[in-house]
Amino acid sequence: MMNRFFRRAAWAAACLLAVAGCRLMETESLTIPERIAQYTTVRLSADLASLTPAERRMIPLLVKAGEEMDAIFWKQAGVSSKEYLAGFADPDLRRCVEINYGPWDRLRGNEPFVRGVGVKPLGAGFYPADMTRDEFEAHLAEHPEDAESFRSLYTVIRRDGAGRLVAVPYHVEYASEMQRAAELLEQAAGLAEDAGLKRYLELRARALVTSDYRPSDLAWMDMKTNRIDVVIGPIETYEDRLFGYKASAECFVLIKDLEWSRRLERYAALLPDLQKGLPVDGEYKREEPGGGSDLNAYDAVFYAGDCNSGSKTIAINLPNDEVVQQEKGARRLQLKNSMRAKFDKILVPIAGRLMAEDQRRHVTFDAFFTNTMFHEVAHGLGIKQTIEGNGTVREALREHYSAMEEGKADILGLYLVTRLVEDGVLTEGSILDHYVTAFAGIFRSARFGASSAHGRANMVRFNFFERMGAFERDEATGTYRVNEAKMKEAITALSRQILVIQGDGDHEGAGRMLEEMGRAGRVLRADLDRISREDIPVDVVFEQGLEALGLDGD
Ligand code: ZN
Repeated sequence: MMNRFFRRAAWAAACLLAVAGCRLMETESLTIPERIAQYTTVRLSADLASLTPAERRMIPLLVKAGEEMDAIFWKQAGVSSKEYLAGFADPDLRRCVEINYGPWDRLRGNEPFVRGVGVKPLGAGFYPADMTRDEFEAHLAEHPEDAESFRSLYTVIRRDGAGRLVAVPYHVEYASEMQRAAELLEQAAGLAEDAGLKRYLELRARALVTSDYRPSDLAWMDMKTNRIDVVIGPIETYEDRLFGYKASAECFVLIKDLEWSRRLERYAALLPDLQKGLPVDGEYKREEPGGGSDLNAYDAVFYAGDCNSGSKTIAINLPNDEVVQQEKGARRLQLKNSMRAKFDKILVPIAGRLMAEDQRRHVTFDAFFTNTMFHEVAHGLGIKQTIEGNGTVREALREHYSAMEEGKADILGLYLVTRLVEDGVLTEGSILDHYVTAFAGIFRSARFGASSAHGRANMVRFNFFERMGAFERDEATGTYRVNEAKMKEAITALSRQILVIQGDGDHEGAGRMLEEMGRAGRVLRADLDRISREDIPVDVVFEQGLEALGLDGD
């Protein structure tokens, strides 16, 4: 449970950006073209000219391995296979199913949009459709020896001939896909010039066919000088809404951006000092942030499976295996071209409607990139164990934990940015750039809905800022203006409040904060409705693959 939880907190990173909850202002059902129009299409490309010939030959192999993960995810997402798509004659309907990896709208709380399909099973394709939580738990009560395999990240639950529940490892259930992907990774390893990458690809190939991922996770942490990277395999557990045990197949094929990575390098070294400088008493910041962590920027050239469904991830925080984290730290990957796409196509248009005209120039990509990164960094700071020895913060805050942890990362990220700008460490742009960009970002994330942890964390921040006078809304134009000095005070005050609630393990205090401030008021709801009516997309969908990259597969 610990692991699973930690995994969520860590991934929460990707969070801000990759939430697939219901939207705030659902009123009536959308038509199929309207569902598709929630997305704007972006072509995924990168500078392949800077790669060596061998590296360029690796890309098609990795993309093809990713396509095998895609095929697995179709099965995991609750339809029998990708062949399900072929059953739709209407091209719009087929496209909508394709974007969502099934007949349920991921941006609208998995609302079904194909007649007769019914509600999406909580256990997606990981468990028998007719299995309840009680049956699963009853089985484990009777067969405690099955607990490990049943709760494993890397098994599906099926019924045997007699109707009894059995756990089947992924490398058996998805044997042909895993085998093909492993062979492709081995071929890519044969081309790898970077020793770390070669070793990782070999171990990852082995992991796919054995369901033992730890050796390859360790090897992934040891890679430092590779230009090409690939995140591949069963990784996140959000698709399993029944228990959150089962990992979904996905793949990112990435090219490291050396120049931006150099910009990030220096921040990793600052973590211990940043922890010491948090605006709380010593007992709330006595933990040491994890060492060995690194921050790098990439351009994504291929997304497949889980990460390509619904809302798209723009930052990754891995590995999830906490044993590997303790030994080696974690890597934070900022996906620069995907971030740029969301910035240009969504955030800038939102700011153009909702921010005061003279502040719109403060909405910058540099600030968006940096704020996102420090959100990730902030997850690693603060406190994980309650100060009175009442266990972990997670255990103490229970159902409020995710919203508080997301809220912490957002506000503390801004606190850290403020410190670093003041100390002259962050020199790109002004502090107002970071504040206005982050504030406009609240409107973007608010569209994912108050039912998600991120959505509620966003509303708490917005309402707290309002109480502190950190922004004003102009009635005549319906636009918002950030007050820099008051925003700075509000950021410090809210950071302190959340860190103290976490350190105290104050379940009641967390509940009160979310209850009092976790909702959008009438005026904000009307403003969000306005941007929806103006057709600003909610998320992006990629035009990608070998053709988009100008490569062929042979
Ligand atoms: Zn987060």
